[in-house]
Amino acid sequence: MPSIEDNIALLRDKIEAAAVRSGRRLEDIRIIAVTKTVPADKIDAAVAAGLEHIGESRVQEAASKKEIVAPGPMWHLIGHLQRNKAKHAIRLFDFIHSVDSWRLARALQRRAEEADLTVNCLVQVNISGEKTKYGVSPDQLVSLLKKISSLSRLNVHGLMTIAPYAEDPEEVRPIFRQLRQLAERVDKLALPRICMQELSMGMSGDFEPAIEEGATMVRIGSAIFKTGLDVN
Ligand SMILES: *Cc1c(COP(=O)(O)O)cnc(C)c1O
Repeated sequence: MPSIEDNIALLRDKIEAAAVRSGRRLEDIRIIAVTKTVPADKIDAAVAAGLEHIGESRVQEAASKKEIVAPGPMWHLIGHLQRNKAKHAIRLFDFIHSVDSWRLARALQRRAEEADLTVNCLVQVNISGEKTKYGVSPDQLVSLLKKISSLSRLNVHGLMTIAPYAEDPEEVRPIFRQLRQLAERVDKLALPRICMQELSMGMSGDFEPAIEEGATMVRIGSAIFKTGLDVN
């Protein structure tokens, strides 16, 4: 039965192969180990195996685990953030992948001013247009980013998207390609505090086409933490 260490080794091989196919290297792609519902001892095992980035969907769950997980990794918020949790989130997370509205951006700015912090973030884009998904629509992205560029405490490093579930990951390659093209378009605008060096896209089922289309951060849960002993 594969262990977390085995899973990570296999994942690294696949990521490296996909990176090479797109003319990049393994080191150019960051693995965000998605640990929602994963207990702290398994997170420690993943960190011990060399993973340096933890992704959580919920502020509260991350807060209680961060107290017991060994210090060292960077913590990423990958799930939707409610404005009333902005204050807590900016202290807890090194990176927020899910900025998706002007109201949230403004709340983050206000809380960051109060705490004298800078927020490193991505803007989440709903490329697929699925009603169940958060994210700004592609046609609203530039106007949102122009507004966000006036917020002195927010540094936008790129874009994030979640592709729809697909049996065959090739089906969602166009989603990843569109995110990259959007980032290229935004980059040309040279907005203050907005750069497009990071693309957070790809999960366990679809990270290979995501990397081939330019992902710099892949958010991987089940491919790391599903071991032989799990039932789900
Ligand atoms: C759960 C989750 C992931 C990881 O999904 P897996 O299929 O387990 O790799 C990635 N991104 C987000 C936003 C998630 O909520």
